[in-house]
Amino acid sequence: MDELGRLDLLAADARFDVCGYGGKDSRHQGTSPLRFIYRASLPKGGSICLFKTLLTSVCTNDCAYCTNQVGRDKPRTSFQPDELARLFMDLHHRRLAHGLFLSSGIAVDASRTMESMVKIVEILRQHYQFKGYIHLKILPGAPFDCIEEGCRLANRVSVNMEAPTVQHLARLSSRKRLHEGIVERMRWVKQIVARNEGAVPSGQTTQFVVGAAGETDRDILRTTVALYREVELRRAYFSAFQPIEDSPLEGHEATPPLREHRLYQADWLLRIYGFSPAEVDLALGAAGDLSLTRDPKLTIARRQPWLFPVDVNRASREDLLRVPGIGPVSAGRIVEGRREYSIFSVSQLKKMGVVARRAMPYIWFQGLLPTEKQMCFLPQLDDEPDQAEPSLAGALA
Ligand code: SF4
Repeated sequence: MDELGRLDLLAADARFDVCGYGGKDSRHQGTSPLRFIYRASLPKGGSICLFKTLLTSVCTNDCAYCTNQVGRDKPRTSFQPDELARLFMDLHHRRLAHGLFLSSGIAVDASRTMESMVKIVEILRQHYQFKGYIHLKILPGAPFDCIEEGCRLANRVSVNMEAPTVQHLARLSSRKRLHEGIVERMRWVKQIVARNEGAVPSGQTTQFVVGAAGETDRDILRTTVALYREVELRRAYFSAFQPIEDSPLEGHEATPPLREHRLYQADWLLRIYGFSPAEVDLALGAAGDLSLTRDPKLTIARRQPWLFPVDVNRASREDLLRVPGIGPVSAGRIVEGRREYSIFSVSQLKKMGVVARRAMPYIWFQGLLPTEKQMCFLPQLDDEPDQAEPSLAGALA
């Protein structure tokens, strides 16, 4: 198979690793070299063009959701480190790729494959003097020295959890070990970053395959929260499970993309809005899942009616952020604007970016009494939220 044919296979297989903010990476179709490039969205808007690829699609692991699982009849291929580095630099010099996202199957064992992946990054940094963005996937079971070198050279690293507890991962793979293979590597990354100033400046991330193992959103969010706290995870990605042909999960139902979206919304409340884990738990239904029909922030507001309505002219930024329809940007504009003038109309709020239709039942303006509609929305405590915040060991058990 020629280089382009191999790149086609490996770039297509890399689509299962999400790297864009909000979990969205789009890829060009067609025959131009742009088909190897994924456009990943950035946190503050805009996007970056990444060459997203695997080093090899050969794998000795048996992850039931994965196209590359051992024994699956499919064409497989690999690159040598120097070949892949040269191909990336070619795309970079043609201004098609501004960064690299490098993942891989585990060809023989995790040590050797990880060594080859780190070698690619070394070639790019040292031989080609590439200074741009590199996201390096860390393989479960990779050795410490390899990870340390990878952390020294990459902007971001990630170890994929895939499932939130030991029991759920056991349903997906007979070979992966959550504590020894995955979480231990995350702890190593945290140690390496603590010891080496400037290592992995964009931090470490992880990814969950949502819905493949019968886990609930509560399981995923608990483990995510524990990872934020204990390994300083920068963020989690959620990837809705899609069954693939000729695999043990071929007949398993696909996860609706809306479930993935709800998890991102809940995660935003934790990371960006500063909601506590106990507050986010209020969004979970009796079965432990987020509603597909109502966004989590609205559910949380409805379950804490005593917090509302808030006075837009006096409320703290934190209280404003709990109002549906007010986000970090509009909350900041309200706080900034009212230093100079009073806010007394919906049109002022709209100009500040507030989604007034959603916010109105939850706010009032200084001097104006809350309306009847604002006073009458009722608590919806149809199930008891679990307020406990387990340790990482507790969350994984
Ligand atoms: S280790 Fe990675 S590439 Fe291999 S089967 Fe599992 S998810 Fe797929």
